[in-house]
Amino acid sequence: MAHDHDHDHEHDHADEHDDERELTDAEARAEAERLVRRDVALAQIRQYGDPVLRMRGAEVEAFDDELRRVTERMNGLMHDAEGVGLAATQVGILRRFFVCTLAGEDRVIVNPVVTPTGDDTEVDQEGCLSLGPIRLPVERASRLRLEAQDEHGEPVSLELEGADARVVQHELDHLDGVLIIDRTDPDARREALGQLRPRLVLA
Ligand SMILES: [Zn+2]
Repeated sequence: MAHDHDHDHEHDHADEHDDERELTDAEARAEAERLVRRDVALAQIRQYGDPVLRMRGAEVEAFDDELRRVTERMNGLMHDAEGVGLAATQVGILRRFFVCTLAGEDRVIVNPVVTPTGDDTEVDQEGCLSLGPIRLPVERASRLRLEAQDEHGEPVSLELEGADARVVQHELDHLDGVLIIDRTDPDARREALGQLRPRLVLA
């Protein structure tokens, strides 16, 4: 799942007229490197139109070095791409696991089972590292219980709400081949598909 922070940041700056100094050379170089790192990461993440994104991952049975190696690499990709979640299907692995940041902590979530707690739902904007700059309104359960395993096969049991609950529902959808364009309202879907189609032709 893509970070929404960029947008907030731009907004902050529009209101802060006293912050219009030029970047130092070091800052400009760091910013350029950040953008290159992000593009290199995004190039390794499957993009909309790739059939793998529509496939269902199988349960993980082996908690081996290979799993830990892959999840470590995915965690790096997620941060470089400036996302808060990345599912195995997004890097072409048809297995049920994802990496994410919950309450500021990096997690590996394997074989997740999500149970909403209560009937409350919230609609908020979501982005996806496989859908470019598109942001869509998606309705999600406000609170849930997550039962899963970590990369060592140890049980994970978390009660989540708000943004953390949203990230987990978004990533779990990826493991079932479901994208936010399937979850949004018809008008937003039509507009998003219009934006995505030219990308397909160019690809
Ligand atoms: Zn996504």
